[in-house]
Formats: sequence, structure tokens, C-alpha cells
Amino acid sequence: MKRTELHVVVGVGVAGCLAAIARSRAGYAVIVLERERARSAGTYPVCTQTSNIVSENHSGAEYPFDPQSARDCLDGRIANDRFFPELIYSGKTYSRIIASQSMMNDGHDIVGQCRSNMDVLRAHYAQRCQEDPANAVFGEPSAICREIPDVPGVRDVAAGFLTPQRGMNPVLVSTVLDWELRQCGVDFREGSTVTAIDRRADGRYLVEYTAADGSAESVIADQVSLCVATAAFGMARRLNPTLTFPRLFMALREILYVDLPDGTDKNFTCLKLEDSYGGMLSPINEHCAMIYHPPAAHIMNIVMDPETCEFPDEYTHYLTAGHPETEKRAEWTLTRLRDFYPELARSEILGAYLKVAINTVADSRVRRNIGVFGVQPGATMTVLPKWAMCVVNARNELRLALEHSVANGNVEAGEVDELLAASVRSCWETRPAWADSDEACTAQATKHAINMNVPEVLALRFAGQNRAISG
Ligand SMILES: Cc1cc2nc3c(=O)[nH]c(=O)nc-3n(C[C@H](O)[C@H](O)[C@H](O)COP(=O)(O)OP(=O)(O)OC[C@H]3O[C@@H](n4cnc5c(N)ncnc54)[C@H](O)[C@@H]3O)c2cc1C
Repeated sequence: MKRTELHVVVGVGVAGCLAAIARSRAGYAVIVLERERARSAGTYPVCTQTSNIVSENHSGAEYPFDPQSARDCLDGRIANDRFFPELIYSGKTYSRIIASQSMMNDGHDIVGQCRSNMDVLRAHYAQRCQEDPANAVFGEPSAICREIPDVPGVRDVAAGFLTPQRGMNPVLVSTVLDWELRQCGVDFREGSTVTAIDRRADGRYLVEYTAADGSAESVIADQVSLCVATAAFGMARRLNPTLTFPRLFMALREILYVDLPDGTDKNFTCLKLEDSYGGMLSPINEHCAMIYHPPAAHIMNIVMDPETCEFPDEYTHYLTAGHPETEKRAEWTLTRLRDFYPELARSEILGAYLKVAINTVADSRVRRNIGVFGVQPGATMTVLPKWAMCVVNARNELRLALEHSVANGNVEAGEVDELLAASVRSCWETRPAWADSDEACTAQATKHAINMNVPEVLALRFAGQNRAISG
């Protein structure tokens, strides 16, 4: 790099964390501006909003109705496997995708649908492995997707499938990303709410924000990366009023953490398909699980106003004051999932979370990857409909940033490919001292659970896994 540029990343859910890490590794000086503040000393408030309830590192297996989403997710899963350390899985093994018997009985061939999706995944993985042997992160293409004879301890099963999809622990994801941001030397400014961004005559950006002490601050950046989830559309449109987005759906969803007073013998996620027949049991450890039942979880779906790009007023209200049906829907989820998962018989709800999912279609069976937007030269926007695409999108947004630096004469064109490859290399090349101590690792993760407003019990890993942290 001929001249070190200053880049500002706005928002640090998983998209912003990855953008900040990738840009730093590429040699840029990076300032992160994040609205939230840490509640635990010595931590950064990362992934405290939508990213605090994510439990599945998808591989496309959950989209049997949409081959393109399946392929996108598998690409994301390969990139994530090369980036994140084993710790994020907290001892969980591969998720079980389950076709429901009751759905078959009602005349929907969900087993056949899953089987043909397995063919899509196998073929796509084989192609990726052929393109680059380093993509063979799950082993032999013929072995990565297979039907299994049974899923013990689950009711209403017509067929089970084992695929590269894997459950993870969002608190451990934050723990890893916090460490990596520190390794990269990112200037992290928490409690900083960005209020305006303007492109100056010299092509650089004036970023104005309210700082943690309430003062009005600003910084001039060579480039900016907008990673503020739904708020990014409005910010991007203000920077470039000619920018157009696809029709965007914002779906209000509810997801729960529950306790497991009788434990569980499943150290994997059960993703039982589909809609009223379906429900996810995602044990985070033996004490706690995330659960989801689509008809109870899907509260509302609103199309974003294409002109203002504003967040719907009702959502702002529900996210702060709660939705009147939150409790009823939580009970509905738990009651329905008890039909499938016996370990929930005595479970109680630890927390119900309202979140907004983004998509370009109304149908939750079809998931469109929105990709990365070049808003203006030197300004990108990354909105992730799926956590699973985080590393792929970070690489794509860095490519745009590097191309802009090449145009400005700050980076040699010949450097770009090497910088891109280095920017998404594995985390934990330098391992934290606490990685080898169960107690210290759990203490670190507990601090993030507090920041993320999720039950502290999430900080525990499956028994017997505490020592199995590898890089
Ligand atoms: C119920 C539900 C379950 C899901 N489960 C999965 C799953 O299992 N697997 C999967 O792949 N995906 C899942 N997703 C999708 C996943 O949650 C998102 O793709 C991902 O978390 C989005 O991350 P993000 O960084 O874009 O946004 P966020 O995590 O929301 O981060 C945005 C950040 O921007 C900050 N911010 C906002 N405004 C400002 C401002 N003005 N100034 C400064 N900072 C600001 C916020 O504080 C926040 O930290 C799920 C979504 C929902 C709704």
C-alpha cells in the first residue's frame, strides 16, 4: 500500500466486524463507530443486535425449495469454515435436517424435496473443490450430504439428513471477533451513533456522529463501509439518491431461548421442516436451547418504502415496547415444539427476542443474497439477510474498497488478489492466553452474553468440549 487510507466502518454486527477485520488486515487504518455500549468492562459491544440470536452456520440444506440459496449458503459455509475457529461451535456437531412425517401424510413430498437438494449441494461442493482444493473443508463431496436412518429423540420424523450445516454459539462468535478486532488494532468507538455522512468535493467522507458522552463529533475518512443492517438503506440513499434497491421485505420475527432442566442428549441442532409441521431445537449447551416455530415466529412482513427507505414505525415501537402477542407466541412455540422434542417438557422461557429479517421476496423458503452495494466511489453498503454470507460479503466489499484505492493510486493493481486472500485468512493465528483455560474462556464469553442481552448460561460449552478448543 503506497498510502495508508483511513476507513470508517459503521455498525458492528457480524457484517461490520468482518468488514473492519478484513480492511485492517489489508493495511487500512480502521475506525469503527458503533451505537451500542459495552455493559462488561474490557469488551467491545459486538453483535449485540440482530447478530445476537443467530445459531446456524447454514450450508443450504435448510433451503430445499431454492437451489440458488442452497448454493449461496454452501459457498458462505465454506468461507466461514476457513475463517472461524472451532470454538464458535461450542462442541456442537453437524445439524440434522429433518423432513416431517406429518407433512408427508398431508401430501407434501418434503423427503423427495430434501433428497433433490442434497444432489444440488453435492454437485456444487464438488465443483468448488475442483476449482480450489482448499475448499474441500468438509471432506469428500460424495460424503458431505447423506440421509441418516433416524434422528433418535425426535418425534414425527420421515427422514433425517446430515449436511455441512452446523449450529454455533453467538456468544462465542462475539468472543472470537472481539479478540480479532483487537489483534487488528482497530480503533473501536462504542456509544457512537452516526447521524450523517457526506461525500466531500475531494471524494473523501465527512462522518458525523454523537459520541458516548453526548458530544457531536466528526471524522474525515477516505472510505466508508455501512454495516448498520436495515438503517443502511436510508444512509446509502442519502449518500446517493440515484441508488435503487430491489423490493425489500422486512419481516418481524420472534425467537426464544429456553432452559433445559432435564438436559439433552443432542449436541446438534434439529431443524425440522416446514412451516406448521416444523420447528428448530438448537441446544447451545446442555442447559439452554434456542427454539423457533415458523407460524408463531413470523409476526409481520412489511415492504420497505423504496423512496424514504425508512424503518417501519410499528417496528420501532415493537422493538422498544414489545409486541402485544410476544408472550402468547412464545408459549405457542414452546407448546408446539414439545410435540417434537421431549427434552422441552419442563422447559421455561428464558427470553423472547423480536428481530427483523430482511429479504427480497415475501417467501421465507426463498432467501436472496442481497450482496454488497457500491454506494459511491469509496462507500459500500453490506446488509446481510443471512449471517452465513458474512465472510463472502466481507471479501466482496473489500474488493470494492481496494479497487477504489487502486483508482486513487494508493494501492498497486497487482497487490489486490494477494490482499484479498490475506484479509479472510483464519482468525486466531495469535491465540488468546485465555483460550487454554476453561474458566477464563467462559468468563470472557459471559461478558459478551451480558453485552448481548442473552442468558449468561450461553457462555458454557457442551461438557467435555471445554478443552477441545482448537484454532
Ligand atoms: C429470528 C432470526 C434468526 C436468524 N437466524 C439466522 C441463522 O441461524 N443463520 C443465519 O445465517 N442467519 C440468521 N439470521 C439472519 C442474521 O441475523 C443476519 O443476517 C445478521 O445477524 C445481520 O448482521 P448485521 O451485522 O448485518 O446486522 P446487526 O447484527 O443488526 O448489526 C448492525 C449494527 O449496526 C449498529 N447501528 C445501527 N445504527 C447505527 C448508527 N446510526 N450508528 C452506529 N451504529 C449503528 C447496531 O447497533 C448494530 O450493532 C436470523 C435472523 C432473524 C431475524
